Amino acid sequence: MKKLLIYLKKYKKESILAPLFKMLEASFELLVPLVMAAIMDPGIANQDLPYIWKMAGLLVLLAIVGLTTSLTAQYFAAKSAVSFAADVKHALFQHIQELSFGTLDEVGTSTLITRMTSDMNQVQNGVNMVLRLFLRSPFIVFGAMIMAFIINWKAALIFVVAIPLLSIVVFGIMMISIPMYRKVQEALDQVLGITRENITGVRVIRAFHQESQEEEAFHEKNEWLTRLQLTVGRVSAFMNPVTYIIVNAAVIALLWSGAVQVDENVISQSEVVALVNYMNQILVELVKFANLIVTITKAVACGNRVQSVLELKASQDYPEITREDEREKSPYAVEFKNVSFGYHASGDHALHNINIQIKPGETIGIIGGTGSGKSTFVNLIPRFYDVTEGSVYVDGLNVTAYSKEDLRRKIGIVMQKAVMFKGTIRENLLWGNENATDEELMKALKTAQALEVVEKKELGLSEPLSQEAKNLSGGQKQRLTIARALVRNPEILILDDSSSALDYATDARLRKALSELDGTMTILIVSQRTASIQNADRILVLDDGCIVGLGTHEELLRSCEVYQEIYDSQFKKEVQANG
Ligand code: ADP
Repeated sequence: MKKLLIYLKKYKKESILAPLFKMLEASFELLVPLVMAAIMDPGIANQDLPYIWKMAGLLVLLAIVGLTTSLTAQYFAAKSAVSFAADVKHALFQHIQELSFGTLDEVGTSTLITRMTSDMNQVQNGVNMVLRLFLRSPFIVFGAMIMAFIINWKAALIFVVAIPLLSIVVFGIMMISIPMYRKVQEALDQVLGITRENITGVRVIRAFHQESQEEEAFHEKNEWLTRLQLTVGRVSAFMNPVTYIIVNAAVIALLWSGAVQVDENVISQSEVVALVNYMNQILVELVKFANLIVTITKAVACGNRVQSVLELKASQDYPEITREDEREKSPYAVEFKNVSFGYHASGDHALHNINIQIKPGETIGIIGGTGSGKSTFVNLIPRFYDVTEGSVYVDGLNVTAYSKEDLRRKIGIVMQKAVMFKGTIRENLLWGNENATDEELMKALKTAQALEVVEKKELGLSEPLSQEAKNLSGGQKQRLTIARALVRNPEILILDDSSSALDYATDARLRKALSELDGTMTILIVSQRTASIQNADRILVLDDGCIVGLGTHEELLRSCEVYQEIYDSQFKKEVQANG
């Protein structure tokens, strides 16, 4: 949490003014019982109507001034809390963008969303409440006690007994309930998690008719949350009755001793009333303070979770500028030298001792069963992950020597899952190259066989895409993502199973169009279908993270058993389907 508070520094002025104005408001509030006392005595006692009016006017004035200072304090507190939260969220967002794929896999998307939304809201609320109440409540409690001493020291002794008693009850209940609140927060997180998973997977749940099981699972978690909340609610519910008993007992004692002293003419009736008012003010403030502590506890817990995200190391360091001096003259566009890679430091490697050299302009097909390491292999080229052993070279330079911009500029990658963003088709395509003209966009669309997707739309390139491009089919999305990568006109184009949703004819046209490009682009095509890659210059066959074949289609058919099996299974299937 401490590291987050640094972001509050920028709003130092507001963060100091807010509690100051709150204390000012509290001072006016402490004056009210005195004015009330004055209305009774000498006002009512002497039946001095003008004096009573004057004092009533003073009360109204105190109220107006109190309201104004309170509003000002609220304004400053809200301003600093909201601006602080906005700054932290901004830093968080920026930090998340810098995290490596490995770290993102580990933390998980849903956790990051919770940290940025509900956790941040708690922190914001905590900061706001602290600025408003942290000084005000103790100020009123001690202020009221001092006022009581000013009025009558004997009666004030009752305050000296009542305040610690009240504090013990309030803070005792807090001590019991705060750990419970932590558990409630945990349970709430789990209910949120299960809700999110269910809502995102609602189609699958229905398709597999898992509604009742899911409902049961949700019910169980929700019940647990309810039970916890009820228990903590019951404990907290003790607060009001017990504190009221203590305060009322104190009021009785005040009236008792007050009555005796009034009788003896030591103090006036009005002073007794003022003392009772002070006692009530103390009660209200202590209860507020107790709630503030709950809010602070929650905010600190959430703040720590936010901080833990900010503390995640980027785990990949990119040089500011590409270390050109390390570049060796190399005839290869991409080279893997003894590369092994594991997603986790411990555990199995997903790739074992990979060696391959790819020449510029070459088209390489990559095939293998699911989980054989095809995506992992291509993800190492744009350095989405860092190799565990060995090195990957692009254009004679180790990928770790490239600045992020330079490396990404060289490579166009189309991922397995086609992701587009809300905005027009044009805006999405310009991600490839923000300076591309419409003509260049159309050319890329044509190569990607996506021209018809755009032409069918009423607004063409200006057609808006909904969130996650839900208004496009899987195949349409895939072709647009290919076009987006082509717009960049990259030196290396990687298609990671990105034609899986295309029919065979479109897939064939796409490959033909790619082969007709000017020939300098190195293309890596990952596919499950032999048909998609059989015309590639060379085909890399992966099995369980190892290279088991590398050569042309014909060569592999002769020499590579794994390739033969894949080819046979698909070829025979096609023959059967056609026959
Ligand atoms: P393919 O693309 O051939 O289907 P992948 O390269 O996706 O295979 O996966 C290779 C292996 O790495 C698999 O065993 C898979 O379980 C594992 N793997 C893939 N992605 C991750 C990840 N993000 N975190 C941990 N393991 C992963």
